[in-house]
Amino acid sequence: MKFLPTSTTWGSLLELLYPRQCVECGAEAGAEFRYLCWDCASHIHVLQAPMCSLCGEPVEGRVDDAFVCHLCLDVGRHFDCARSAARFDGGLRTAVLAFKYNSGTWLAGDLAGLMNSCFDTHFDASAVDLVVPVPLHPTRQRERGYNQAQLLARDIARRLGKRCLSDALARTRQTETQTHLTASARASNVRNAFAAVRPARYQGKRLLLIDDVMTTGATVSEASRALKEAGAASVIVLTVARG
Ligand SMILES: [Zn+2]
Ligand SMILES: [Zn+2]
Repeated sequence: MKFLPTSTTWGSLLELLYPRQCVECGAEAGAEFRYLCWDCASHIHVLQAPMCSLCGEPVEGRVDDAFVCHLCLDVGRHFDCARSAARFDGGLRTAVLAFKYNSGTWLAGDLAGLMNSCFDTHFDASAVDLVVPVPLHPTRQRERGYNQAQLLARDIARRLGKRCLSDALARTRQTETQTHLTASARASNVRNAFAAVRPARYQGKRLLLIDDVMTTGATVSEASRALKEAGAASVIVLTVARG
């Protein structure tokens, strides 16, 4: 029995495989994050009020009442509320890109930790029944080997003590990259890109939809539409970064 590794041994093994170095600058990681140093972590631009009460996009200056931003009014939203932990820049941008495109699955815990703090600030776990990730198209998931949103959703679900329904939605067509598209072009780019899968499992349920980065919100809004048309009672959205 004495050869069974303890959790400390597992921790050391993990650190041998994935040294606790900052993903941004290579310095030794701090205490708060496994793969961000104290300095880079202190530069994470956490999103704070005042913000659009619907999509969570911060605004400059003083705002006294709850308000909805122009983008939400212009394009319309199918989610009930969306929040993101931090701005997509600096060390967080590096971490998200490594997580998403460079097999950096070991970063899931750090990113989910940030999302969990954001969840606690804006949402209530008693108002969530199931956690659902935004799906990738099967071709893209095969190329990448994993769905980054699913890894985050599983971690968040575990922290909240909820069930993660990884296949609530399927991506029915490949959408072109949205990077250079305007808000309205993004909305039409993702229109009808999602289909509900066995919706009886979540009819009448309150869902927490998880993605990595939200920019104009076109993708999460379209995914929310598919979930609601399939019978979800409500959809709130949580992403780690806001582009
Ligand atoms: Zn650093
Ligand atoms: Zn808004």
